[in-house]
Amino acid sequence: MELISLDQPAATLEALVVDDARTIRFAMARMLGELGINVTEASSGAEALKSFRQRRPDLVLIDVNMPGMSGFNVVKEMRAMGGTEWIPVIFLSSMEGENSILQGIECGGDDYLVKPVSRVVLGAKIRALRRLEAMRRKLSDVSAELARANDRLAILSVEDGLTGLANRREFDQRLESELGRARRGHYPVSLLLGDVDFFKSFNDAYGHQAGDACLQRLAAALKRCCRRPADLACRYGGEEFAIILPETGAGGALLVATSVVAAVAQLGITHRASGVAPHVTLSVGCCTILPDAASTPEGIVKGADVALYEAKAAGRDRCVAFVADAARPTVAGLAA
Ligand code: GH3
Ligand code: MG
Ligand code: MG
Repeated sequence: MELISLDQPAATLEALVVDDARTIRFAMARMLGELGINVTEASSGAEALKSFRQRRPDLVLIDVNMPGMSGFNVVKEMRAMGGTEWIPVIFLSSMEGENSILQGIECGGDDYLVKPVSRVVLGAKIRALRRLEAMRRKLSDVSAELARANDRLAILSVEDGLTGLANRREFDQRLESELGRARRGHYPVSLLLGDVDFFKSFNDAYGHQAGDACLQRLAAALKRCCRRPADLACRYGGEEFAIILPETGAGGALLVATSVVAAVAQLGITHRASGVAPHVTLSVGCCTILPDAASTPEGIVKGADVALYEAKAAGRDRCVAFVADAARPTVAGLAA
């Protein structure tokens, strides 16, 4: 960790000196000036509050006993203004005694100096307060950095690194919650599972990097096929994709599945080693359920997987819908 320097130039610091006695203000201003600190003076509580509000100084030195408003009450009002809790406040008083010190700290002061103030003690106190300020700044920088890292982590935890689609973990969570919502709302949920055809031979023919780039283009095409805000395209596994379609019946799901198969083919990514077309193609299995108490994420995934297997077996480059209450899946969509 970086060390905090205690010897930063103090020239940029602005102090507000509040005292009804002109001689004290003058003496304080001179001492602070010698420490390289710019000074604004105020001769009453009201004047101090006005100046404090306008200038937001880096440091306040304030007399306790003043006609009208006491220094304690002025500081209470300063602390009540938002975002001022870190501005150091030092009380100046001729009153000694523990009670007075206690009261000063309780109403928001950070330190206490008895008049006449020694130049050496004032310098030391300011140094200590500046050290605290430097640590606070460091802490707030680190907190901001941490917050940014957490935001990034939150994205990474739901996003697939290669394609930018939702990752498998996000898929699992969303599917579970969508099934619950659909069960309570009595509406259907559809799931599409897509698997790239002859992708192993694509990698063999063009290399793994070209394979990755291909997956990225397919992912973007899938995303474009998700028309409703609640639709979620995911990377299910290596070259397998999934789309969760909430509040979507079998007819709507088949339309989306058909559009996905067509969109992938229309990308026209050359695949000389494909056994089905001169370009990259996708097979899609589709399953729709009206969830009840017995429905599980595994159940709908299984249905879509069975349909996907059928799509592969029927010649690839097509979608097949699995109908839960039928003995066999219904072959539909694009012809081979
Ligand atoms: P099928 O038509 O039956 O699906 O044949 P296939 O070759 O696509 O099936 P298989 O499951 O045998 O091959 C999948 C290939 O996908 C193998 C693997 O190397 C490749 N793959 C999986 N994940 C990635 C990835 O992230 N990048 C690349 N480039 N290839 C991947
Ligand atoms: Mg596969
Ligand atoms: Mg495949």
